[in-house]
Amino acid sequence: MLKGKTALVTGSTSGIGLATARAFAAEGANIMLNGFGDKGAIETIRSGLEKEFGIKAKYSPADMSKPTEIAEMVATTEKEFGSLDVLVNNAGIQFVANIEDFPVERWDAIIAINLSSAFHSIRAAMPGMKKRQWGRIINIASAHGLVASAQKVAYVAAKHGIVGLTKVVAVEAANNGVTCNAICPGWVLTPLVQKQIDDRAKASGKPARDEEIKLLSEKQPMHQFTKPENIGALAVFLSSDAAASITGSAYSIDGGWVAQ
Ligand code: NAD
Repeated sequence: MLKGKTALVTGSTSGIGLATARAFAAEGANIMLNGFGDKGAIETIRSGLEKEFGIKAKYSPADMSKPTEIAEMVATTEKEFGSLDVLVNNAGIQFVANIEDFPVERWDAIIAINLSSAFHSIRAAMPGMKKRQWGRIINIASAHGLVASAQKVAYVAAKHGIVGLTKVVAVEAANNGVTCNAICPGWVLTPLVQKQIDDRAKASGKPARDEEIKLLSEKQPMHQFTKPENIGALAVFLSSDAAASITGSAYSIDGGWVAQ
C-alpha cells in the first residue's frame, strides 16, 4: 500500500514507535528510525526491517529535545530517500509527581520532547509534503490528550497541546493532500508503562502484577492493555487512501478510558 513512500517514526527504537515502524515497513514503506538505545540493538532492528520486509531502513540519532537535530533529521530523510511522506511523532517520556514537587527540568524536558518536537518536525516536513501534494502526519497523543490524571501535569499539558497542534496543522494543510491526526492510546504495555508499574510496586510493597491490574482498572473499563501493534495498524489506516478525508481528529484507542 505504501511502496515507494518513506515513513519517519520518532522514538522508534522501543514500544509503540517500534511497532509502528514495523507496521509501515510491512506496507512497503521505507523507514527512518529514531530514538535512543544500544547501538548494536538499533542496528539489529534496522537490518531486521530491511531483511523481513524488503525495504530500505536508516537510523537517525537525533535528540527530540533539540530543534536543530530535528530539522536535520527531516532534511536527511528527504535527501537519503527522496521524500518524507509519513511523519509519526511518537517519541515521549513521562514523569510522575504532584505539581509542587515537580522538578522544573522535568517539566521542560517533557514539553520539549512530547510537544515541541512535533512542532519542529512538522515545520520542517510540511514544505516537502505541500510541494508533493501528499503527506500523512500522525501525532501519538494519549488519553491524557483528552482528560487529566493527578501527578502528570507536564505530560497532560503536552498531550493536550499535541491535540491542539494537530487541529491547526490539519486546517492549514486541508487543501494540499496532507492530513494530520492524533492517536490517543490508553494503557499500552511498553517500557514507559512498565516503569510506572515497577515504581508503584516499590512504593506499595505489593507484587508488580497486582499493581498492573490496579493501574488498568483505575482508568480503563477494559482491563487489558492495547497492543503496540494495534497502534501501528491505526497509524497505517490513517495513512491509507480510505482515510484521505480524515484530518484534525483525535482517535481514541483506549479500552473505553475517555468514554466514562
Ligand atoms: P517507550 O519508552 O517504549 O518508547 C519511547 C521512545 O522514545 C524510545 O524509542 C525512546 O528512545 C524515544 N525517546 C525518548 N526520548 C527521546 C529523545 N529525547 N529523542 C529521541 N527519542 C527519544 O514508550 P512508549 O510507551 O512506546 O511511548 C511512545 C509514545 O506513546 C509516547 O509519546 C507516549 O507518551 C505515548 N503513549 C504511550 C502510552 C502507553 O501506555 N505506553 C499511552 C498513551 C500514549
